[in-house]
Amino acid sequence: MKRKTGQDRSITANWRPATQAVRGGTARSEYGETSEALFLTSGYAYDCAGDAAARFAGEQVGMTYSRLQNPTVEMLEERIALLEGAEACRTMATGMAAMTAALLSQLSAGDHLVGGRAAFGSCRWLTDTLLPKFGIETDVVDARDTQAFIDASRPNTKVWFFETPANPTMDVADLTAICAAARERGIVTVVDNAFASPALQRPMDFGADVVAYSATKLMEGQGRVLAGAVCGTKAFIDDVLLPFTRNTGPTLSAFNAWVVLKGLETLDLRVMRQSENALKVASFLEQRVPKINAPGLPSHPQHELCMRQMKMAGPIFSFELDGGRAQAHGLLDALQLIDISNNIGDSRSLMTHPASTTHSGVAEEKRIEMGISEGMIRINVGLEDAEDLIADLDQALRAVAL
Ligand SMILES: *Cc1c(COP(=O)(O)O)cnc(C)c1O
Repeated sequence: MKRKTGQDRSITANWRPATQAVRGGTARSEYGETSEALFLTSGYAYDCAGDAAARFAGEQVGMTYSRLQNPTVEMLEERIALLEGAEACRTMATGMAAMTAALLSQLSAGDHLVGGRAAFGSCRWLTDTLLPKFGIETDVVDARDTQAFIDASRPNTKVWFFETPANPTMDVADLTAICAAARERGIVTVVDNAFASPALQRPMDFGADVVAYSATKLMEGQGRVLAGAVCGTKAFIDDVLLPFTRNTGPTLSAFNAWVVLKGLETLDLRVMRQSENALKVASFLEQRVPKINAPGLPSHPQHELCMRQMKMAGPIFSFELDGGRAQAHGLLDALQLIDISNNIGDSRSLMTHPASTTHSGVAEEKRIEMGISEGMIRINVGLEDAEDLIADLDQALRAVAL
């Protein structure tokens, strides 16, 4: 009999997050491997035809096909659910597959959704383009304003969908107030928690119904593979999400699941150190740039709210230059250490110009409405020595006369 304590909720639910991040979900094979095994298999064999029939009928526990179940993927799903404080989790091939599944699985033609205005570019494409194409009406509001969600809602409003902190303006949404207002109205909240990860913020602790992730970012943590996840109640996952994903197939590969499992082991260490570094870099930049959007800084208008719902403000923030795209590109081109890259959550420091990269697909007037100026730069602060990062930024700012 193999020890499977990592899969036993009566044991794992009592573990603290750092323990869950290393051991949650682990299930060992008959070989007793210490590190999680990587099951690269698309199918499963049965001892007899009767077993196959019983498994398809749902009368026998076991796997049938890797679009539906895979042992490595299930270990990751259990680990994420534990870290999130969720009853259940299903992983997806990418963060966008997770967002799409979380929304399309529960919305139908005639329903209405209210979304956060400042959002990842592809999330805005879902609310502005994909959902309306299937007869789902959408409105976007400033997620800093809880009343705006209420005012935009109608009798057919089914979902409020937002991220906090939001990409790339770093707007903070009041999770407690928004989720309570949604509950009162029978509206489902779907929170994109990619900028925080469960190490910094657990939206369900504040009343969120569904938490969706790009696990590509902080969970994976070293910029190697793409992954996504959706967390919710067992009823939501089993009865709403699974019928959609089992048949449409946005399944995470076992290999990518294994990489994310390894990433989660160091999630807390990375995210806390990167957040500390980000605060040092933001404190430096605050003295040198005209505008900075870093909710970790005491001067940020939403600092108190941010610290009420997050352990630390995270590794990502943005700042703005007065000289538009030319000066922003000039600053990026002068960097010697920090990479020009649109990814985030990586242990390397990366900087990007959202208006010409991540949000270039969003029409200019929408970008302005979202608060993304031509002079805005987003930074993901990594695990390098903060003093080296500050020195690189210092010389690059000088190169553009700042
Ligand atoms: C990156 C990101 C996504 C999309 O995730 P992918 O893994 O790239 O598909 C969605 N939302 C936010 C906030 C993100 O940062």
